Amino acid sequence: MVNKEKIEEAVKLLLEGIGEDVNREGLKETPARIARMYEEIFSGMDESSEIFLAKRFHVENNDVVMEKDIVFYSMCEHHLLPFYGKAHVAYIPNGEVVGLSKLARTVETFAKRPQLQERMTNQIADAIMEQLGAKGVMVMLEAEHMCMTMRGIKKPGSRTVTCVKRGEFETNDSLVRDFYRMLSK
Ligand code: ZN
Repeated sequence: MVNKEKIEEAVKLLLEGIGEDVNREGLKETPARIARMYEEIFSGMDESSEIFLAKRFHVENNDVVMEKDIVFYSMCEHHLLPFYGKAHVAYIPNGEVVGLSKLARTVETFAKRPQLQERMTNQIADAIMEQLGAKGVMVMLEAEHMCMTMRGIKKPGSRTVTCVKRGEFETNDSLVRDFYRMLSK
């Protein structure tokens, strides 16, 4: 559980640290507001993707299932600035599938934590591989990082793309070509 008192305290210190007057009207409610906001944007700390991947349905054939353009918002753990973009998730079922919204919920669970895009991509793939028991998974994330665009080298519009393959996607190139074909449709 998020400790709101600690967050409020920390935000007060942070504002003082940059030389602000924490008692001026506009800032008075800010620490409490940020504490409530952090409870939401870091809600993935208390969640497990297993809950979403537990409800399954049997299928006759194991054709590739893809959910693309899943919009996500996360926080870079190096700067605590947002990175956001789209996730594309494809998997090969092993006789069982999950509801499509559950793939989006799985992405969201891992997004709502202090994150690295590379790790998040792996975590999504591993969850679907291990918790759903898929025969193969391919996950691609494309995101813009505010720590790249509003500070440092300031490259607005640049996107970071990460891609992870597991199981049959690692050994079967035609499945990978299917992924890109479905992605470009
Ligand atoms: Zn960063």
